[in-house]
Amino acid sequence: MATSINAFEMAQKQFDNVAELLKLDPQVREILRWPLREFSFRIPVRMDDGSLRMFQGFRVQHNDARGPNKGGIRFHPAETLDTVRALATWMTWKCAVADIPLGGGKGGVVVDPSTLSTGEKERLVRGWVDVMWRNIGNRQDVPAPDVGTTAQMMGWMMDEYSKLVGEFTPGVITGKPLGGGGSSGRTEATGFGVIINVREAMKHLKLDGAKCTASIQGFGNVAQYASIGFTEMLKGKVICISYYDREDKVSYTVSKADGIDPRFLMTITDQYGTVDKVKAREAGYVIEDGGAWISKDVDVLIPAALEGQINGETVKQISPRVKILAEGANGPTTPEADEVLKQSDIFVIPDFLCNAGGVTVSYFEGVQNDMNYYWTKEEVLEKLDTKMTIAFAGVLDMSQKSKVYTRDAAYMVAIDRVVKAMQLRGWV
Ligand code: NAD
Repeated sequence: MATSINAFEMAQKQFDNVAELLKLDPQVREILRWPLREFSFRIPVRMDDGSLRMFQGFRVQHNDARGPNKGGIRFHPAETLDTVRALATWMTWKCAVADIPLGGGKGGVVVDPSTLSTGEKERLVRGWVDVMWRNIGNRQDVPAPDVGTTAQMMGWMMDEYSKLVGEFTPGVITGKPLGGGGSSGRTEATGFGVIINVREAMKHLKLDGAKCTASIQGFGNVAQYASIGFTEMLKGKVICISYYDREDKVSYTVSKADGIDPRFLMTITDQYGTVDKVKAREAGYVIEDGGAWISKDVDVLIPAALEGQINGETVKQISPRVKILAEGANGPTTPEADEVLKQSDIFVIPDFLCNAGGVTVSYFEGVQNDMNYYWTKEEVLEKLDTKMTIAFAGVLDMSQKSKVYTRDAAYMVAIDRVVKAMQLRGWV
């Protein structure tokens, strides 16, 4: 989805603010403001009708001082080098704030994957690896799924890489299918991680989850498991979700005043997060316009779709009842809206802390691949809970000690860890 916000300028602006607060050395700033390496390339794909189509691909490696670059590959028609740069930068901060020994990377392809057949998708992801294989690797750069890419695609990419290097290398990519080197709990990880953060924020604010309501933007991987976590772990009510309708080319909000049933909605949602609105209506759900989710009178707002959704205009629509804004998506809040939130009483759980559950379990997946020994889902989710709870506590502590906004506190924790690693390696 196109936004007028340049995500990379946003990422740099957020960094500059905190670099100023930290009085960061100008040379260190210069390293961290920009990615260390960028790849922009064309991928030839033989289409089912016999024609040859070229696709634009990207991979950006922002910083690998703390370990191999890590980050998903997004398939989206509005993908640009700048969105990939922003997401790679946020990955550096995300891995650092979650304290996992990885750096920041991100990839993309300019494509609407829903327009491709299964065979075309397979040839496209294998083509991506054919271009990039020398610059990725389990000790170099480890991609993963993101918007528009799936576990099956990761399985094909791992296979292509293994063939090219001549040995089975499951750790080159994470988010693989179960039984094909994937980790139990990866599908749930990001959404559940969001809810672990919300649970910790509720403890801090002395709120009872069972008495709280939430409104969620998106109904893809993150939003689905955030909805399940909110209703089943916290016993609260999610009163609406929203989604982008690929047929009508507009977004809708699907609501139910006494709480949605996320597991039912998942049965009528396709793999791209588009809900069958006819079946939803039949089941008693109300379909409103796509923007309705933000003005709902709820305790918790969870943007879990794409970047730039809470801006100078939409921030004004947030209900005074909202106590927690849990950023499931990457970069959902623009700097202009951030200034408003900073002055408000809303407790903001910043994106790279809030949605770090996914990369945390991706890291666990790599660890299990290295050991060639796999944990149960319970073990994975327990380890995820421990990591997320510690990460949340670290950011809250920094925010209270330094009397700064939670987003700035998360940046302070993350930047400090990355700078320390660069110092230890003699880069600065
Ligand atoms: P997804 O493709 O599975 O789902 C995206 C959802 O957003 C879909 O339901 C889509 O219909 C909806 N959407 C798109 N535009 C919308 C709009 N204008 N209004 C309402 N809904 C809209 O993607 P996902 O994996 O759930 O990722 C969502 C966000 O979370 C992205 O910002 C992504 O980068 C971030 N994220 C994902 C993961 C992960 O593990 N999947 C990890 C960290 C961060």
